[in-house]
Amino acid sequence: MSNKKGNISIHTENIFPIIKKWLYSDKDIFIRELISNGCDAVSKYKRLVTMGETNGIEGENFKILISVNKDNKTLKFTDNGIGMTEEEVEKYITQIAFSGAEDFLEKYKEKIGEENDIIGHFGLGFYSAFMAADKVQIDTLSYKKDAKPVRWICEGGTEYEMDDSDRESRGTTITLFINEDSKDFLEEYKVREIISKYCAFMPVEIFLENECAEKKEGEEEKSPVAINDVSPLWLKKPSECTDEEYKAFYKKVFHDFEDPLFWIHLNVDYPFNLKGILYFPKLKNEFELVQGEVKLFNNQVFVADNIKEVIPEFLLLLKGAIDCPDLPLNVSRSFLQNDREVGRISKHIIKKVADKLNSIFTNEREKYNEFWDDIQVFIKYGCIREESFYEKIKDSIIFKTINDKHVTLKDYLEAAKEKHENKVFYVSDLEKQAQYIKLFKEYGLDAIILATPIDNNFISFLEYKDTVVKFNRVDSDLSDVLKDKEEVETSQEEKDKIVKVFKDVIGEKMKDYKVESLKNENTPVMVLVSEYSRRMAEMQAQFGGMSMGMNFPEERTLVINEKNPIVQKVINLSEDDANKERVENILKQVVDLALIGNKALNAKELDEFIKRSNELMLELL
Ligand code: ADP
Ligand code: MG
Repeated sequence: MSNKKGNISIHTENIFPIIKKWLYSDKDIFIRELISNGCDAVSKYKRLVTMGETNGIEGENFKILISVNKDNKTLKFTDNGIGMTEEEVEKYITQIAFSGAEDFLEKYKEKIGEENDIIGHFGLGFYSAFMAADKVQIDTLSYKKDAKPVRWICEGGTEYEMDDSDRESRGTTITLFINEDSKDFLEEYKVREIISKYCAFMPVEIFLENECAEKKEGEEEKSPVAINDVSPLWLKKPSECTDEEYKAFYKKVFHDFEDPLFWIHLNVDYPFNLKGILYFPKLKNEFELVQGEVKLFNNQVFVADNIKEVIPEFLLLLKGAIDCPDLPLNVSRSFLQNDREVGRISKHIIKKVADKLNSIFTNEREKYNEFWDDIQVFIKYGCIREESFYEKIKDSIIFKTINDKHVTLKDYLEAAKEKHENKVFYVSDLEKQAQYIKLFKEYGLDAIILATPIDNNFISFLEYKDTVVKFNRVDSDLSDVLKDKEEVETSQEEKDKIVKVFKDVIGEKMKDYKVESLKNENTPVMVLVSEYSRRMAEMQAQFGGMSMGMNFPEERTLVINEKNPIVQKVINLSEDDANKERVENILKQVVDLALIGNKALNAKELDEFIKRSNELMLELL
């Protein structure tokens, strides 16, 4: 061919500056684009061989070689795929790829500047090379009989040049003459890092060579190792994967030393294509924030981590890889949100996850109980975020109780029916509420443990779903359960008197006073906090200044145990005004002790308590 110059027919004066500016923040992806073009070229060639369109070469290995050369400032991508003829270069590179890039820009022009709004920048493909290069050269030889090698050179303007090439073997080499701003891409480690991120599971073996690396004398040439894994586990049939393979894949991809708890292998061919594996990680400790990582792939090409538009947000607490070949990933995120396909994919994943959990719940209950600590936050968050998930999973929600059992809400309510109907008692802090837990155990009662940060929201959610059931913390309204069956017969008059004695001393600190006959005689008084007021106070604390000027104090009730000897004696003492000071000290002491058991004294109160204790001891001497 004689040297040929041409003009790329585009309407936009020069799109390269725009491409550069726009994609600046995510420059790395040009490497992914060029490698995936190489993979496509290899797949096309293989298909032709399979179809008998061309004779393959016995034992030929397909590969993509990336060569870094710092001295020449070049980065080369070589494949032994289908190659291109002169006409094809004209058509696919000069016309189509260009107009594709142009279309793309046209469509999303308004979004320029909002880089983050575009997933992966798919679609720019070949021309993304100009993000890092001043000049791009293609040398290609088509598989077609008698094809001649072609060279195409473009220096980032609208003009290009075509000529004969000296390429001898089938395939394509794209040479990037790296620009000043992009010198990073001449570092072998940097290129390796990007390939490992975006191309770790591409279907053709990828090798990286440094043309400038000095070969050490006498050192034996090591056979190179491919950077990628060409057949990731998610592509295998679930029935052909072993537990060991699942675990190894997990550890390798997510750099975790621990085995995952369990996993879900997604494998759908119809009505859409979806493959992937989702893992439930084991939490290192109970304080660890759950941080998942779900990688999204498009035909084995990595797109991005944690894309909320495709994967329901709560599933992002898991770890996994999802490959959706059908997704239009070259479009903006807001488009994905409204895409019907995306909605269906999302629904399918939710259903699969719920099915798996329900199946472990039904068939391997012991294991499920054991996993619960690790999966509960995920499940609770999922229920709150996604009604459909809650509807599917609700019968498999369990609670650990203070008596070391794992029960469903139904189990719990059934067992408690006689004593407190439709009321669920819970503990949010095993230490602070230890006193009440002890009491519950003495009464042969059970309470569930809700100690994770999400539980507050979760019980509100459950109460909203089932308006009959009410959740009460163990230190809230105990009136149903505390009363001794063989109640002491005390007249209302008598009760009023006891209340008055206490109220005169303790005053407004308690919203309410109640005289009960508690089973355990040793407890003189107990402090209860109204569930409603406590939740309001907690909410206020959570949202800080939002409810300016409003104040929700916790409403406390003092329960006085008429069976307790201290109470009885102090009431007798109070008959005589001479004992006033003593009575006051003892009552304050008794109430403070109850508050201490609840870890509810502030610094000043504690100070007073200690002073008073010492004074009381002095009196005993
Ligand atoms: P896409 O890959 O989405 O088609 P690109 O801009 O990445 O868009 O590539 C445009 C076209 O150029 C490809 O469809 C292909 O026909 C051709 N092409 C690019 N790179 C190669 C290659 N390494 N080997 C053969 N053909 C290629
Ligand atoms: Mg491409």
